[in-house]
Amino acid sequence: MMKTYNGSCHCGAVRFEADIDLSQGSLRCNCSFCLKIRCWAVMVKPEAFRLLAGEAEMNVYQFGAKNEHHYFCKHCGVRPYGIGNSPRYGVFYGVNVASLDGVSDEVLANAPITYVDGRADNWISPPAETRYL
Ligand SMILES: [Zn+2]
Repeated sequence: MMKTYNGSCHCGAVRFEADIDLSQGSLRCNCSFCLKIRCWAVMVKPEAFRLLAGEAEMNVYQFGAKNEHHYFCKHCGVRPYGIGNSPRYGVFYGVNVASLDGVSDEVLANAPITYVDGRADNWISPPAETRYL
């Protein structure tokens, strides 16, 4: 079910809202960056994401081909979202599921997870091992 969620970094400097249907699935990835930040993301279209506060409180990290902007709070370090541009999806916001506020354990536990093998630049099929992601 599509729902508008509120989200934030840990210190509260960055706040956003996003229209998300968690039952449509979320992503975990084994690429060099996602692994280190324990990324758990849901992709939404730009019009489904609204930054409410904190634009000036964030820094952005980019690496590799620099197609993606990984935003993080300057104060607490939490990464609420990133903006990517992929040939398959176009411009998208990758919202950190763990930064959503007020979501029940049950809803989080029931959000389907798609594992992607970003380490092999394979965005179609899961990696052989997913248990640690
Ligand atoms: Zn913060």
